[in-house]
Amino acid sequence: MAYKIDDSTCISCGACASECPVGAISQGDAAYVIDENSCISCGACAGVCPVGAPAEA
Ligand code: SF4
Ligand code: SF4
Repeated sequence: MAYKIDDSTCISCGACASECPVGAISQGDAAYVIDENSCISCGACAGVCPVGAPAEA
């Protein structure tokens, strides 16, 4: 299982990308996106996101 960012909620602040220990998060066109093949489901992105956009998918 990997985490997924709700692109309608994400405000592209970039906080999650700085926290991810495996560099799985990058900026996409509409929102930040998680590479599901790299994500180790640590939950750090969800913990730091100000709007609660990342969730376990
Ligand atoms: Fe990165 Fe952890 Fe979020 Fe997965 S759950 S994208 S490994 S911070
Ligand atoms: Fe989007 Fe939340 Fe990541 Fe900020 S921390 S870029 S709002 S998912």
